Amino acid sequence: MRIIMLGPPGAGKGTQAQFICDACSIPQVSTGNMLRAAMKAGTPLGRQVQEVVDRGALVSDDIIVALVRERIAEADCGGGFLFDGFPRTIPQAEALQAAGVAVDAVVEITVPDAEIIKRMSGRRIHPGSGRVYHVAFNPPARPGLDDQTGEPLIQREDDAEDRVRHRLDVYRRQTQPLIAFYRGLAQSTGLRYLAIEGTGTVAAIQGELAAGLGIDPAPGRRPQGPGPNLG
Ligand code: AMP
Repeated sequence: MRIIMLGPPGAGKGTQAQFICDACSIPQVSTGNMLRAAMKAGTPLGRQVQEVVDRGALVSDDIIVALVRERIAEADCGGGFLFDGFPRTIPQAEALQAAGVAVDAVVEITVPDAEIIKRMSGRRIHPGSGRVYHVAFNPPARPGLDDQTGEPLIQREDDAEDRVRHRLDVYRRQTQPLIAFYRGLAQSTGLRYLAIEGTGTVAAIQGELAAGLGIDPAPGRRPQGPGPNLG
């Protein structure tokens, strides 16, 4: 199964992506995570993109397309994959098509802007593990500290409120056109297009996803807590 997750930053794509990937046994290909790993490791790519990512703008299509091409050529992507945060622009989607990468399903998660700003500006991360908290909805046991290691939590530079507003603006201008692009493709090909409201509980959204994608919702598994569905 090859799936694209579409939706604004903070819609919960990452959380739902993990659920789908577990259920379908496919890897999650998150361009945001790949770029952050490169920045953390200080690779030439990381140094090249740092300033753009920090200001909440989009990295150039050429860099992203090369990154994704390389990633999906790896063995674990042979049985499918889920794109989280890619494609972000029409040229990226066209590059995917030009490379002959057919997608089975596009999942769009919709969340109002005000809700996204509340979610993202309260988000805190444990840099070592990537564990995600929220100051109001999913606070750590001790304020500002990771539950497992006691190490300090950070706010991602691009989660600051002004950056979030900017990222939403970028989303509207550059990524939202992909909705019409893939809806059109769904009408002319066998692509499945699923639009889901991302404001319910994580478990309810997972139920909708499982039904819409025809995957086993793994009833024995506990959903990921009552907190909001942070992207
Ligand atoms: P994300 O975690 O998906 O919100 O991505 C964080 C940041 O990485 C974005 O704000 C962009 O600066 C950059 N980025 C991630 N994916 C892409 C992409 N497909 N195209 C361009 N820039 C991207």
